[in-house]
Amino acid sequence: MSDRQPITIGPISAAPGSRATGLVPVDLGEAVVQLPVVIVHGSLPGARVSVTAGIHGAEYVSIAALREVALALDPARVRGCLVAVLTASPLAFAARTIYVNPLDGLNLNRQFPGDSSGAPTQRLAHWLTTAVITGSDVFVDMHCGDMNEALVSFTGIEDTGDAAVDARSRELAEAYGLRYLLIGPSPGTTTTAAASLGIPAVLGEVGGQGRWPAEDVALHAAGFRRLLRAAGLIDEAPDEPSFTTEVLPTEAWMRATTSGYWHPGVSVGDRVTAGTVVGEVQDAFGAVLERPQAPMDGVVIFLVSSLAMNAGDPLLALAG
Ligand SMILES: [Zn+2]
Repeated sequence: MSDRQPITIGPISAAPGSRATGLVPVDLGEAVVQLPVVIVHGSLPGARVSVTAGIHGAEYVSIAALREVALALDPARVRGCLVAVLTASPLAFAARTIYVNPLDGLNLNRQFPGDSSGAPTQRLAHWLTTAVITGSDVFVDMHCGDMNEALVSFTGIEDTGDAAVDARSRELAEAYGLRYLLIGPSPGTTTTAAASLGIPAVLGEVGGQGRWPAEDVALHAAGFRRLLRAAGLIDEAPDEPSFTTEVLPTEAWMRATTSGYWHPGVSVGDRVTAGTVVGEVQDAFGAVLERPQAPMDGVVIFLVSSLAMNAGDPLLALAG
């Protein structure tokens, strides 16, 4: 529960019943980055929800949706507190990089809980773990497909083995109400770091491919508002969507073993059976380098949509 003291993140501090916004400097060793933070400290006591968007800098639906919700919340009508990091990897946002922080080429969402004396991205993960996630009652990480990825909307939670934490994460993910619910593990991610601290945590994913159409932003924002209602912060939230969330407990990522030109043979949202050829990687002259086959029955959750493909890169993920 939030106490009635001001809530402070770096130089930003919000007394009960107030909002504070500003840039928070984080020293990454090689550079100091400025993270845009919003604290909405409610007039009444309640839970503390922390949320990040832009862990991957070109995931615009999630960044746009979090700005929309966090900037509109009225502290006079909030119980508890929201701490929102609007763009968690600002150098990746500015450079429009896919997957990685341009300072060191590391994927921030593989570095949690981080290292205060490590590479810049590891230091950023450590700061987010200690200054934002720790001390929260609920943690949310808003993502979408990256610049080169299409996806179907889903939430993800961990399977920590702590029944109370896992049940609360599931309730909150169901409140978010996206098309699918995937259940861990995902080592090195924000939500794993939060869950390992005993904090219920939800990953939300809507949209992708460097676009941020209004309907995708609205879907992500509505889900996050429903989660805030389920966490007790607000009373009003959009209605549940018309579809029922389907739980997909197992997941497989397929990766390229060759570099070349990626011609997918399936679409995001398709159901495939084990053994289905999901596409082919060709060389520059049209010769087939590989025809990868689905390792399991499942739904194509995300699909890389760039023609360019590198050995080791993801092609798609299945869940079923
Ligand atoms: Zn992401």
